[in-house]
Amino acid sequence: MYQKGRAWIELNMKNLASNLKQLKSLLPENCSVMPAVKANAYGHGAALIGKALQNMGVRDFCVASVGEAVELREAGITGQILILGYTSPQEFSELIRYDLTQTAVDFSHAKQMQAYGRPLTVHVGVDTGMHRLGERSENIGKISRIWEFENLKITGVFSHLCVSDGISDGERACTYRQIEKFDSVIRKLKEKGITGFKTHIQGSYGILNYPELRYDYVRPGIALCGVLSSPGDKTAADVHLKPVLSLKARIACVKQLHRGETAGYGQAYTAEKEMKTAAVSIGYADGIPRELSNRGMVLVNGRRAPVIGRICMDQLLIDVTDIPCVSPGDEAVLIGKCQDEQITVSEFAHMAGTISNEILSRLGSRLGRKVISDAGQVSDK
Ligand SMILES: *Cc1c(COP(=O)(O)O)cnc(C)c1O
Repeated sequence: MYQKGRAWIELNMKNLASNLKQLKSLLPENCSVMPAVKANAYGHGAALIGKALQNMGVRDFCVASVGEAVELREAGITGQILILGYTSPQEFSELIRYDLTQTAVDFSHAKQMQAYGRPLTVHVGVDTGMHRLGERSENIGKISRIWEFENLKITGVFSHLCVSDGISDGERACTYRQIEKFDSVIRKLKEKGITGFKTHIQGSYGILNYPELRYDYVRPGIALCGVLSSPGDKTAADVHLKPVLSLKARIACVKQLHRGETAGYGQAYTAEKEMKTAAVSIGYADGIPRELSNRGMVLVNGRRAPVIGRICMDQLLIDVTDIPCVSPGDEAVLIGKCQDEQITVSEFAHMAGTISNEILSRLGSRLGRKVISDAGQVSDK
């Protein structure tokens, strides 16, 4: 169900194409972009973004779960879809049915896949310091034994960086240690005569801060969305990313609030003066964090209107006392541009005490979507 008229996402596919181009310009020619379109493509809409990227020439995608991979396949994604996370044996049949590539999250997971008894396509995860998934890089014996599992067709080996967003000396040293460990695993596998696999380690910040690396794929998520995780982030590569997503909602009701009266649940806001307030048709069920109660900002008519009171499930209240001509039906911009004003996802996330990635990935399922294609056509999805 969606209600574009109430609260909706706008997707600018021209900006998506521009971000893809910008990232490609940093990479060696034979390196492929394998976008991370997990969590509904960071809230943008997995099928919409996946199809748009496929039309821009992208062949490979990665997601977090088998369910996300199936959704992409059913939407018409024809290339490789790599599942980065764990898939349980109960779901191995889906890997075959939908021709998916599964990460072996460690040796024992690889063993389970072997025991399934049917051929599976696999990338081997190597833990170089994130200490989340992957077989530990020093266990080269266990890693190489995965190639003895004859049911596994191993087409890739990868790792994940844990502080590639940090540019301090200590953080860079840690990242270089991870890269060294990864290279060492690749070298030792080759010494054992194991070849024919692709390699990858960089997400968005790995690309932006270590563009000199030379692996076969990169896995950008947030950078393709055209935003950084936090507003103050500095990156080594100088690229001009453009936000793909805007978040908008309709003003439902404008009213006077008299001095001494309160607004919303829990009487969390009290008017200190005669005020004009507006109710906006978007709330925490749509992904607006409740942390923004009494502290968020919304753009109306090119001006900033502070959030007052508690964010409700389906609505929030704003102070529009100083903004002329606000009427029911007007657009309010939660994330994006409104005339000369802009609220970026990272600013929005910062106000809520989190990062862009979390805000985007938690956008609600009842939001409508309006797509502006790279050719400039507007359509509702
Ligand atoms: C989410 C994820 C990515 C993409 O991360 P971004 O920082 O959004 O680019 C890449 N690789 C793995 C393993 C991930 O989990």
